[in-house]
Amino acid sequence: GTSNGSAARPLFTVSSPNVVYTDDEIRSKYTYRTTLVNRSEDGKYVAVPKETVYDFKVDRKIPKLGVMLVGWGGNNGSTVTAGIIANRRGLVWDTREGPRAANYYGSVVMASTMKLGTDAKTLKDINIPFHDVLPMVHPNDLVVGGWDISSMNLADAMDRAAVLEPTLKAQVRKKMAGMVPLPSIYYPDFIAANQEDRADNLIAGSKACMAHVEQIRKDIRDFKAANGLDKVIVQWTANTERYADILEGVNDTAENLLKAIETGHEEVSPSTVFAVACILEGAPFINGSPQNTFVPGAIELAEKHGAFIGGDDFKSGQTKMKSALVDFLINAGIKLTSIASYNHLGNNDGKNLSSQKQFRSKEISKSNVVDDMVEANNVLYAEGEHPDHTVVIKYMPAVGDNKRALDEYYAEIFMGGHQTISIFNVCEDSLLASPLIIDLVLVAEMMTRIQWKASSGSGDASASADEYKSFHSVLSILSYMLKAPLTPPGTPVINALAKQRGALTNIFRACVGLEPESDMTLEHKLF
Ligand code: NAD
Repeated sequence: GTSNGSAARPLFTVSSPNVVYTDDEIRSKYTYRTTLVNRSEDGKYVAVPKETVYDFKVDRKIPKLGVMLVGWGGNNGSTVTAGIIANRRGLVWDTREGPRAANYYGSVVMASTMKLGTDAKTLKDINIPFHDVLPMVHPNDLVVGGWDISSMNLADAMDRAAVLEPTLKAQVRKKMAGMVPLPSIYYPDFIAANQEDRADNLIAGSKACMAHVEQIRKDIRDFKAANGLDKVIVQWTANTERYADILEGVNDTAENLLKAIETGHEEVSPSTVFAVACILEGAPFINGSPQNTFVPGAIELAEKHGAFIGGDDFKSGQTKMKSALVDFLINAGIKLTSIASYNHLGNNDGKNLSSQKQFRSKEISKSNVVDDMVEANNVLYAEGEHPDHTVVIKYMPAVGDNKRALDEYYAEIFMGGHQTISIFNVCEDSLLASPLIIDLVLVAEMMTRIQWKASSGSGDASASADEYKSFHSVLSILSYMLKAPLTPPGTPVINALAKQRGALTNIFRACVGLEPESDMTLEHKLF
């Protein structure tokens, strides 16, 4: 029950015996079609179509939603906050290229469409905004808050970030000057030493403890109460930490992790403390940085509490290109043999990454992104064969937030020939990351309102007696927005961008009883 939740009138309804709308819910019976493969002794396959029927239930009441950012005063935090305010107010500002208006470009949810179907009369495609497929929160309605180890208010933080136009900043300045991050936890060993001079807004204590967990939980509750919120989602957009060592008895199980926090073990990172606090508080927690926040004990804790987690590392620029381009090359039958990736950037993220241990987190996160695509093509690559792949990041203060990413893709083509593709990608990092922050919040929130149960599909009473339950705690549906997608333990990681988008759109479609998007267009081929 929400105080001010509303069930907005949807742009479309589905007319099908498998879909029922009530005031509070959309219920659908959905047949999931897959193929099971048996391998016979002579090495041949037998493919068996399989059908599983699920009942999905979507809560239609759109909650009043808060988002709390860890690292709120950083480039991403200040940029996304200003962006939301500008959109909410419909701001227009002057630039040397003329007036610009607030938008949500770069957000899959707000600025992309999907095909609903074909017009019954003309057979032309009908496309609808992604945002209209399910009853989702609108980002203009988000209440933004959070923590930072720097006490700077958001207006000054926006100046420090040097991302937005002065004419835009002037219009949001007053509102943002009143936004001040809550004090945060700072364990200096985890981020670069060069960050120390901004750490002036701290909760006492320099290693993990239960008091920190409790303070963060209280901050979430207070924020919720002060703003009359139904739900809060927390996102780590603070500095990249070094990896935490995975130690037996320390962070390997939920119980050990809680004990390690109680006893102040030095190997528990601030981001893991935030994750634990959110899990215990039932607030979905998403990690936008590359470090291993989700140690095995944290994942187990989330599973135990049925709390949602997602990560790791926003996929904004170079890696997004990579997960699209490599998908294309390998699926075109072209044998990619090496990828060399060079980055330089001049923002505070780059400064932090100029320290070896923090760079290492980023290097790991960026390095496995083509594995699934390579493994899937056993025509081009022998078992265990892999393209060479290197990632370099350098700090160049002069370019600020305008990150440069230079990539060379070297591939083998027909008859021993070669193809070299060089990409020079210049992008304002925080302007690419901000819409991802919004998408992660909106999709994660939506997932808190979707439930499923196995259905017999034939009115079998024993099956329908099952209780509805949520998706798995680890929200791999967020993979499209993330560089090193976290998946439920033991399940495959999908990096290919098109597949990630397919999972996102088709799961949403299934919830309203629609078939996956099909590109067969037989209606235009068979007549
Ligand atoms: P930033 O350095 O401008 O902001 C990080 C903020 O976190 C700073 O204000 C810092 O004071 C604060 N902070 C550090 N430790 C903290 C703690 N323990 N608690 C609370 N606040 C803390 O960086 P950014 O450009 O906003 O990027 C944020 C993170 O997102 C980085 O880790 C970066 O690697 C990751 N990321 C960014 C992009 C992108 O911008 N395109 C893409 C992928 C990942």
